[in-house]
Amino acid sequence: MSSLGNLTVITGPSGVGKGTIVRKILESHTDVWLSISATTRQPRSGEIEGKHYFFLEKKNFQEIIDKEGFLEWASFSNNFYGTPKKIVQEKIEKGTNVLLEIELEGARQIRKSFPKALQIFLAPPNFSELEKRIRGRGTETEEAIRDRLAIANKELIAKKEFDAVVINEDIEKAFKEIEGLMGLKN
Ligand code: 5GP
Repeated sequence: MSSLGNLTVITGPSGVGKGTIVRKILESHTDVWLSISATTRQPRSGEIEGKHYFFLEKKNFQEIIDKEGFLEWASFSNNFYGTPKKIVQEKIEKGTNVLLEIELEGARQIRKSFPKALQIFLAPPNFSELEKRIRGRGTETEEAIRDRLAIANKELIAKKEFDAVVINEDIEKAFKEIEGLMGLKN
């Protein structure tokens, strides 16, 4: 009998470094599979369809919602983001360890549908550091930056809902901590 794969959720405010940590996990642990989300936001320069996201028109995103094709979905800063259901379920059934990098509302939905999933919140050392990182990334307009910072404020309050809170002060340290939480062997 084959055993199910583990599901891990990494959440944390925009700019906290989730993407960098996730990349490090995937590079070091080829047995971990990252779910590629669908989104209605515009691709940033360098983002590739099917690698970073599946970029969809709102109408197509809505069709998937109607067909119950998302494991979870949420609206974030005027765009929709969602995790494709079928492929994630298949991976877990085949015993693959699945990673979701999603925002707070999505994490809350997963908590209901997959109570056994490990939920990790990645937090910045402080708020001004987060602001510096979002601005330094240079990928958003001033309006979008303000919106993301306002959302970050709310998300940070919710960190106590999570199984573990990892502070991303030193990327290597945070990575090792998450490796440990996920039970990944070096
Ligand atoms: P960004 O626009 O910076 O790529 O992502 C914005 C936020 O949406 C981030 O917090 C990211 O983790 C989250 N996100 C990405 N994909 C999904 C998803 O499939 N579902 C949910 N709920 N959030 C997502």
